[in-house]
Amino acid sequence: MKFALVTGGSRGIGKAICMEIAKLGYHVLINYRNNTEEAENTLNQIQENGGSGELMKFDVSKPDEIRASIDKWKEKNPDTVIEVLINNAGIRKDALIMWMKDEDWKGVLNTNLDSFYYITKHLVQDMIVHKYGRIVNIVSLSGIKGLPGQTNYSAAKGGVIAASKALAQEVAKKNVTVNCVAPGFIKTDMTAELEEKDLKRMIPMNRFGSAEEVAQVVSFLASPQASYVTGEVISVNGGLYT
Ligand code: NAP
Repeated sequence: MKFALVTGGSRGIGKAICMEIAKLGYHVLINYRNNTEEAENTLNQIQENGGSGELMKFDVSKPDEIRASIDKWKEKNPDTVIEVLINNAGIRKDALIMWMKDEDWKGVLNTNLDSFYYITKHLVQDMIVHKYGRIVNIVSLSGIKGLPGQTNYSAAKGGVIAASKALAQEVAKKNVTVNCVAPGFIKTDMTAELEEKDLKRMIPMNRFGSAEEVAQVVSFLASPQASYVTGEVISVNGGLYT
């Protein structure tokens, strides 16, 4: 059995990624923070399609929870390697910097950037020894271009992009690839309060994207076929200029 971990797999983009990664033949570890019912829905849909998976609840912003949860899983599954890691879980807490609360700066950095460090560090060693691995980080247009009202989120996503490029070079010789996917406006709970009819005017494709459209690109980067692609950022944004 081959194993993949997808963070934030209970809803939105992460859920669509879980479905696609299962189609690649992986047993998917579906991480989430609170929403057990939605995480179970993801698992049920994977199983209905003939795939397999299990839930793995931990808060990606808490290093102790990450370590405890992954170590517990490894104890139960000795001699296995989690060879695909999709760092997808993320939050945003938008405000202009002068009104930004310190906890919203820290919360967004912890959830979107520090999580990349703690989870990847815990899993990459096994991939190196195994001489195969795929790491895909879900970043954002905001981390490439910067968006007003999102200094915290832009800093976090931009940090993940830079860290991914550095890590890609550290592990390339061991057949471990590290890439980023940068969505634009995608229809999920995260964008539910945004006005698509106003915002779509600035998108050349004149619409928001779907979680499935992001998941297709992630699936390619997580597959053996993407063997010579590393350190890249692929935008999935309907043609928004970045
Ligand atoms: P979403 O619909 O709000 O779903 C967020 C997912 O992340 C949920 O599964 C949630 O789990 C999980 N999560 C949040 N905080 C967590 C934590 N501390 N620990 C563990 N899991 C946590 O978001 P989305 O739109 O699918 O976004 C997914 C990724 O794409 C994020 O990194 C986001 O920044 C990025 N992105 C999204 C868009 C967009 O337009 N939607 C654009 C660019 C980038 P629970 O269900 O348990 O809460």
